[in-house]
This record gives sequence, C-alpha cells and structure tokens, in this order.
Amino acid sequence: MANDRKGTLQELPLLPLRGQIVFPTMIVPLEVGREKSIKAVDQAMLEERRMVLAMQKDTKVDDPGTGDIYSVGTIVEIKQVVKVPGGTIKVVFEGVSRARIDHYAGEEPFFRVAVEEYDEEQAKSAEVEALMRMVVNQYERYIKASKKVPPEQLVTVVQVEEPGRLADTIVAHLTTLKIEDKQSVLETFDLVKRLERVSDILTGEMEVLELERKINVRVRKQMEKTQREYYLREQIKAIQKELGERDEKGTESEEFRSKIEEAGLPDEVKEKALREVDRLEKMPPMAAEAVVVRNYLEWVTNLPWAKMSDDTIDLKKAEEILENEHYGLKKPKDRILEYLAVRKLVEKMKGPILCLGGPPGVGKTSLAKSVANALGRKFVRISLGGVRDEAEIRGHRRTYVGAMPGRIIQGMRQAGTRNCVFLLDEIDKMSSDFRGDPASALLEVLDPEQNSTFSDHYIESPFDLSNVLFITTANVVWNIPRPLLDRMELINISGYTEDEKVEIAKRHLLPKQRKDHGMTEDTLEVSENVLRSIVREYTREAGVRNLERQIANVCRKAAREIARGDATNVRVTVQNLHNYLGAARFQWGKKAKEDEVGVATGMVYTEVGGDVMPIEVTVLKGKGNLLLTGKLGEVMRESAQAGFSYIRSRAKELGIAEDFHTKYDIHIHVPEGAVPKEGPSAGITMATAVVSALTGRPVKASVAMTGEITLRGRVLPIGGVKEKLLAAHRAGITDIILPKENEKDLEDIPGNIRKKLDIHLAEHMDEVLRLALGEAPLKDEVQEVPPPAATLPAPETQVQGTPPVV
Ligand code: ADP
Repeated sequence: MANDRKGTLQELPLLPLRGQIVFPTMIVPLEVGREKSIKAVDQAMLEERRMVLAMQKDTKVDDPGTGDIYSVGTIVEIKQVVKVPGGTIKVVFEGVSRARIDHYAGEEPFFRVAVEEYDEEQAKSAEVEALMRMVVNQYERYIKASKKVPPEQLVTVVQVEEPGRLADTIVAHLTTLKIEDKQSVLETFDLVKRLERVSDILTGEMEVLELERKINVRVRKQMEKTQREYYLREQIKAIQKELGERDEKGTESEEFRSKIEEAGLPDEVKEKALREVDRLEKMPPMAAEAVVVRNYLEWVTNLPWAKMSDDTIDLKKAEEILENEHYGLKKPKDRILEYLAVRKLVEKMKGPILCLGGPPGVGKTSLAKSVANALGRKFVRISLGGVRDEAEIRGHRRTYVGAMPGRIIQGMRQAGTRNCVFLLDEIDKMSSDFRGDPASALLEVLDPEQNSTFSDHYIESPFDLSNVLFITTANVVWNIPRPLLDRMELINISGYTEDEKVEIAKRHLLPKQRKDHGMTEDTLEVSENVLRSIVREYTREAGVRNLERQIANVCRKAAREIARGDATNVRVTVQNLHNYLGAARFQWGKKAKEDEVGVATGMVYTEVGGDVMPIEVTVLKGKGNLLLTGKLGEVMRESAQAGFSYIRSRAKELGIAEDFHTKYDIHIHVPEGAVPKEGPSAGITMATAVVSALTGRPVKASVAMTGEITLRGRVLPIGGVKEKLLAAHRAGITDIILPKENEKDLEDIPGNIRKKLDIHLAEHMDEVLRLALGEAPLKDEVQEVPPPAATLPAPETQVQGTPPVV
C-alpha cells in the first residue's frame, strides 16, 4: 500500500516535535498537549491514521511557524490514542519512513504538508555490509566503555539486518547525542553515507568517553591522595591530642605569625621568619626539620628586638641605692656614679665599658646588680669562665645538630629588654684554642661602633646591642686579653679589712641570711664580737663570700634548733660559736712561729686576694745546683736565680764562704707545693731565706716581705700592696718590708691597719737583710756553712715539684 504513494507528493497533517525524533520502524509513545498538535492528530485519525512528525529547530518556541521546522521528518502511523485528564492526549506512534516536506498546504487550524516519502533501499552491497560490521563493532566497544547503556541493547542492535534501520536504531539509542546530530542522520538518505556518519558519531563519542574516563581517573587519584593525606593527618592530630603533645597545627603557625607581629622584628627579619612559618606549615609536624624550624622561630620571636624598659637616670636615687645596698666601696661607687652621670648627659654613649676588677666575694656582681636597680633596668649575667670557643659567644649555624644561639643572644632573651644591664662575669677566665678566639667575638659585642649589628650565627640577622649597658668583672686584670682591656674602664675593688667585713656582716649579710632562714633579730641574736670571731677564725679571704656562707651555716643550725622546739630564740656567743661552726679553722693574729733559719715569709697576691707564704731553703752537699720546687712559674724561677747570683757576687760581704757554690746544692721550696705560683715579687724573700740558710742567721718570724730583686741587689716595686698588707695583718705579722717605690700605695691602706703594722721601705737587698736577719756579724766571724744533714728537707717536699734548675 505504501509503495503506491512513492514518488508522488501526498498531503498529511504535521505534528511539530520538540527535542525528539522518531525514526522509521520505531514505536514511540508521546504526550501531545499543544492545541494545534491535538487537532492535527484528530485529523490524522480520520485519514488512515497517518501523519508527519518533524522537529522544531528551536525547542523553546511554543507556536512555531513553517520556517521553524526542519524540512525532513518521519511519516508515522498512529497506533493508539489515549485521553489524559487535563486536556492532553497520549499517542503511540510507529515510524514508517523518512519524508521530505515539499511545501505547506495549510497552516490553520493545524499544519498540513505535502511530502515526498522516501523508500529505504534494502539491498546490501559489500561496502554496506562492511560498514555495518564496523558500526556494530564500534557500538559494542562503546557500550562496554560507557557503562551508561544497558548491555541488552547490544542484542537488539545486533539482530537488525537492514542497514538503514541499523544506523537509525544505534543513533536513537545514543542518549547523550545532541539532537542536531540525530536530525542530521535522519536527513541522510543514502545508506553508505548514513552508516559512515554513524561511524563518525560513534568515534566521536568514544573519544569523549575516553576523555571522560581519563579525567575521572585523574580526579579520583587526586581525591584519593588528598583524602588519604587528610585522613592520615587527622589521625596524627588525634594521636598527638591524645598524647597531649600539641594543639592543632593551624593554631601553631597562627601563633607564630601573631608572635612575629608582636615582637616588632625589623622588616628583613620578619620576612624571613614568616617564610620559615610557611615552610613549617608544609612539613609533617614530627619531621626533624620541623623541630629545627620551630626552635628557630621560638628564638627569633622571643628576642627583645624592640622592647625597652623606661630608662630613668636619677643620680640621687642611684646614689641612694648604691649606698643602701653596699657598705664601704667609696671609690668604686664614686666611679660608677660619675659614669652614670656622663651617660645621662650623652644620649648614646660610645664610651668605655666598665670593668670591675678584684678578688672573689668583694661585691662585683652585686654592685652591677645595684647599677641595674638604680637605672630601673633588667639585669642579666653570664659567666665567661672556661669559654674557649667562639661559638659560645656567637652561636652555631643552624645546620649543626642541636645548634643554639650564643650566650650573648641567650642573655638577651633572658633579659627580655634590649636596654638591659648585661654583666659579663670572669672575663679574665676566657681562653682560646683551635675553635676560634672568643675574645675577638667579644670585642664586637663591646665595641659601640660595631655592636648595633651584632651577628649571631644561629639567628643570622643582625641584632642591635647598642642600648645594652655592659659591665664586666675580672679577678685578675692582667689576664684580660689586651684589646679587650683597652676598651674598658677599670674599677679596682680590693679586699676588705677586718672591720669592714664585720660592718658588712652586721649591716647586710646577717640581716639577709636571717630573712632567708625565716628568723628575726628576736629569734636569732648574733653580736658583733661573734661576727668578728667568724671573720678571724673561720674565714681567710679578701672578700666576704665565705663569711656569708658561715653566717648562713649559723642561721641554718639555729633554725633547726628552733624548729625542733629546743628553744624559742637562739643567742650565739663567742663561747658557743664552735657548736655552730665546729672548731676554729684559722688561728688569728698568733705570731706565726719562732725565728727560724732558712725560712722567710713572703706576701703574695693571688686570684683570691692576698696571702702570706713561707719560703723554705735548705743547703745540701753537692755541686752548686739550685733546686726549685713548689710549682714555680718561669718568672719566679728566674727571679730565684737572679737572687742566687746576687748572693754569689756578694758572698764575702754577706759573710758566706766564697766557694760555697762548689760544695753545696741549694734547694728552695715554696709550700702548698701543688698550687702554681708565679711572679717576681718573691725575689727578696727567696734571697733572704737563702742567705739565712747559708749563714745560719735566723729570720725574724714577725717579718713579712715582698719585692723584686735585681742582679745588683736593687729592690723593685710590686703590685697588690693593699691586698698583701691586709693578708699579713690577718696572719698576725707586725713588720713589713716593702720596696721604697711602693710608698705611694700606702695611701690606700686603712689607717687602723697601718697603725698596727711597722712598715719598712727598702731600696736595696742589704737593707732587707738587715731588717730581716738583724745586724750582720763582723767579718772575722765568717762561718763555715752549717752542716747540711741538720737541715735536710722534709721528705714530702723532696718528692714534689719540678726537676732542679741551675
Ligand atoms: P663577686 O662578684 O665580687 O665575687 P659578689 O657580688 O658575689 O662578689 O658578693 C658576694 C656577697 O657579698 C654578696 O651577697 C654581696 O651582696 C656581698 N657583699 C660583698 N661586698 C659587699 C658590700 N660592700 N656591702 C654589702 N654586701 C656585700
């Protein structure tokens, strides 16, 4: 029946479709709602149920005109019409064949078109056959890849034998295909071309699929990685939280950032620190590197880059504070106040650094503390004793394991303000070795020209030390490296006299210790006499450090008595003092011994202040060797030899047999053999002891002496006079022999001490001998040297010391 109409035009009602194509042979149910379309369907029902379906070019147009409709469509047969409530109808169409619209025969009340029906060719050429196979294959692959099309569809497609229908079915099943592409397939009447077009479409779709798959895989991988990391991080956080180790990572770096803002870092340092925070954030929190970075940030953010305390230089107040906190020390206090006065007048002083020099326990540290108090500044102290590595001053580079900033930066962190008072203790105890010279690093610290950009290896950025008030201390000034000493203003604090010590104890040490031990004047009574006994019998020192310790001992014992309920208050007397401190350690003021042959008393100045030191000499049978023992230093040995040569050259005048040096060896020993001794100031003492041993004339036990000797017997000046005299006084010496040139130093000796000492000034060894040994015997009384056996040295002094030197 259909064939009759082929080749000729036939008029049929037209139904415009929106976004939908019905291919020939396909059965499709559609809902029809537009009034014009319903009318067209009604008319078709009257005319053998046939009509044309063609697609609108634009789906959004509600009332399309003739130009809005594609000119190729499908002739269909209406299989069923069902009315649906609401005025629409549901129609089931079956596609019959392709048709080209020739012209519109009518537009109202519905479209009516004259169409030419296309007869599908069914004969299969070899080419068509091949194309069919190819398309089926492609479709199969597409289904496998896409997963969107149910595999059963493949079966329906494979069963299609007609080439045109095959192409149509496949295209109809491609749900993702653009509707325009479907229309283009509908418009391709030629079988070969249509199959090729489908093949193209499938290839395109496969490409899209492949791309999708790739993107999918990538996205999934990315997701998996991020998810995995996120999951692990969360786990670490949970573990850390459980261990109480750390708050959220975010808060850590935020904390650092806000600390960096607060710390007022210079721009360059700030930038660097922020960069480190970024780095830290990217690291796993437990990595070794993270620990290093965190440590660095801790240091940088805790340094006082900008923080300063208010500087108040009120000289009156400063004087008051210094006076209240320390007894005596008039000269040092004046020097300090002068120094502060200059500082007040000159805004940024480039002047010298203060150096407090003196024996231990004379209040160097506590003076420096008072300076800080007086200025209202923070105080820090570092000890340089034993520092021998430059890195201890300047720090280690961060690449070192366990690197740290140097002591200067450590001190600054501790101080927390950049205008603190910084005490460099024991600057004379520094040494240098292969690891670099700490003194040169310290030079940079103390040099006002350089210290505004002090560089620490660890911090890496320059730190400004120019507002710091540096004070140094030293026990022995001559041990300070020369270039350092040149930059310092030296304030010498020598030891205290007994009276001064008693005053210090009464005013400062005792009240402080009482307070520390929870006692008052009522519960612990210690009279001045007791304090004097402690000074005399339990301490022998230049400063008051041991004194303070002994007073602390008394307080501790008394506190125990009270706490135990044995007493409510304790009264310490001279008589019961030994209950608190044990037996007296030193016998004070007792005349040392009887006058002796071959023993002379010298006075020395050591790191811990002055002291008296006996020098022993014995004469042995031998060949004129000079034996020196007791750990004597180079200078002291030479000094002994100078004395020896002087005696040889003056033997006759001294009443000694001139050939004594061919028959005897002379052994000089300085007791406390294990303690190193050095310096030329024992020259006259050694010579006196030798003359005494050679002549058999005893040295007066009441005499102590000090002075350098020359080959000609001249007596040269020495240092540390005050310390030496205080020590001699402590030891009960009454006669002192000093070089004449030291007369000027006697001004510093407190009057009460000077009164108690008979001080003789000598220019030549002859005077020394006269004073120490008494008048020389007459020439004809020249004696043979006493028999050596009688004065053999004690065995223990023989084993000590270094090999003999001629
Ligand atoms: P240094 O640093 O010289 O070794 P310190 O400053 O440590 O000595 O002094 C030791 C103790 O003696 C401190 O408790 C200090 O207060 C006290 N002291 C020292 N000299 C005086 C003084 N002149 N007046 C008051 N106390 C003093």
